Amino acid sequence: MQDLKGRVAVVTGGASGIGAAIVEHFVQQGAAVAIADRDIDLAESLVKKLQADAAAKVIALRMDVTIGQEVEAMVAQVEHAFGGPDILVTSAGIGLRKDFLETTFDEWNRVLAVNLTGAFLCGQAAARRMVKRGYGRIVNISSGAGVRGIPGRAAYAASKAGLISLTQVMAAELGSHGVTVNAITPGPIDTPLTQEMHTGAIRAAYVGRIPIGRYGSTREVAAAAAFLASEQASYITADTLQVDGGMAATNYIINI
Ligand code: NAD
Repeated sequence: MQDLKGRVAVVTGGASGIGAAIVEHFVQQGAAVAIADRDIDLAESLVKKLQADAAAKVIALRMDVTIGQEVEAMVAQVEHAFGGPDILVTSAGIGLRKDFLETTFDEWNRVLAVNLTGAFLCGQAAARRMVKRGYGRIVNISSGAGVRGIPGRAAYAASKAGLISLTQVMAAELGSHGVTVNAITPGPIDTPLTQEMHTGAIRAAYVGRIPIGRYGSTREVAAAAAFLASEQASYITADTLQVDGGMAATNYIINI
């Protein structure tokens, strides 16, 4: 079944991890997909891999989500290449594990700029076109860290909580224009970001608190994103979908 056939999607941060799995899944579901990422080499190698299937429609565009002109140019290029976009997924993000009292002003600003302002800029550029066409699906990749007071995550958690709030306001304003806006809050997922940031002790502590008893896969987040991006989710907006193996129901807080 190709639920996204004929749709045009932009995936920010689509070169790696969760974003890359979303790109791959959306291409399999029949969408034309633009990978918008600051790491163009990684994005282009994913394009090459996916183009082994001659039917795949996928391009790579280098951009930084924190720079308004680059965001606008990227969305204009997608419109020129494929039309749309009908779907935006904001997966570009950076992590930071640092106590509130230790977090520098620059670190705070950088994390907020990529994780929150980046989604604002991309959402605005895409939604302006969606509103004109009366159709759109926006999926913001937030985090379980955005709904709990986890020690050591001041900037990251604030950026992800802000993204949930932005999702709700966008949904409230855009719903009457045929545009739905939802967030996904993944729990711990195996990606390059967590492989770098999660020590063995952190991994063990998380797994002990996840009812399903393991880290999630990027493919499991991609399946949730594809659902929210599809026709089937037509009456779901302003929602936050947990893809966390049940972790939010137990206790997110590990103090490591
Ligand atoms: P990742 O590091 O594997 O991928 C992030 C991608 O974003 C990279 O390709 C990177 O080049 C790109 N990127 C970073 N800054 C950018 C910028 N300024 N402009 C354009 N592209 C930029 O990370 P991931 O683990 O796949 O995480 C993806 C998203 O999911 C992030 O927003 C992250 O906060 C969120 N998340 C991840 C987990 C997890 O366990 N991995 C859990 C919850 C939420």
